[in-house]
Amino acid sequence: MRIFIDGQQLPILVRVSHDLLTTLKTLSRSLSWGIFYDPTKEVVYINSKSSAIPVLPIERPADTSSDDPESVRLLNKSICIDAGHGGSDPGATGPTGTLEKDNNLAIALLLKEKLENNGAKVIMTRDSDRNVAYADASANEELGARVDIANDNQVDLFISIHNDAFTNANATGTTTYHYGDIESVRLSNCLQKKLIEHLGTKNRGCRYASFYVIRYTEMTAALIEAGFISNPEEEVLMASADGRMNAAQALFEGIMQYFRV
Ligand SMILES: [Zn+2]
Repeated sequence: MRIFIDGQQLPILVRVSHDLLTTLKTLSRSLSWGIFYDPTKEVVYINSKSSAIPVLPIERPADTSSDDPESVRLLNKSICIDAGHGGSDPGATGPTGTLEKDNNLAIALLLKEKLENNGAKVIMTRDSDRNVAYADASANEELGARVDIANDNQVDLFISIHNDAFTNANATGTTTYHYGDIESVRLSNCLQKKLIEHLGTKNRGCRYASFYVIRYTEMTAALIEAGFISNPEEEVLMASADGRMNAAQALFEGIMQYFRV
């Protein structure tokens, strides 16, 4: 349901409910505001200037992208995306030289775009190939800087994107890590399910871990290991445009499912 006051649409999208309509009507009556509800369009029009029925807006042509419910599903949600490693820290390296930091950043940038297209506020720990704390920072300083960005911005969600690696090149699959709190477990389940669906990788499940970035972030947080860069097939998957796009789409859908929008 959309709400217009004096012809201006409020930047919120709420489910139609009898309670909400009653509240709006009672409120309007007590303030001598005019109110009109159009049930076919699920729009409430409010006139705060007088108790007269509000003047209804003239129908605009089809392309009103800002009115598209799709574009505001994540309005008022803030998400910090952490592309793991970067700059002087390449992360893991694949058999043919693919760098984890590049795969992580590519997925993170694609995810950012999808979230922003749906109204979310996105904070990136990095949006280029660089260290987050400062050039050549230590691993601990890097992790601390990422946590600080999420905490200082008081985001709703923190999602750290990584590729896995192991000495045995046969290891494959996708894992999502959480620090055990109920909301982070729920987020991890949403992300993991979608990643498996979209990537077609082996499901290594959601697991508890005490990784710094999910332990010290003060909000719901998850760290995903999208696939094993040390496995030749998954290295190709993580380095390919399709694989990266599928991973980003999966994370996007998982976030939408987590917020139940
Ligand atoms: Zn990593």
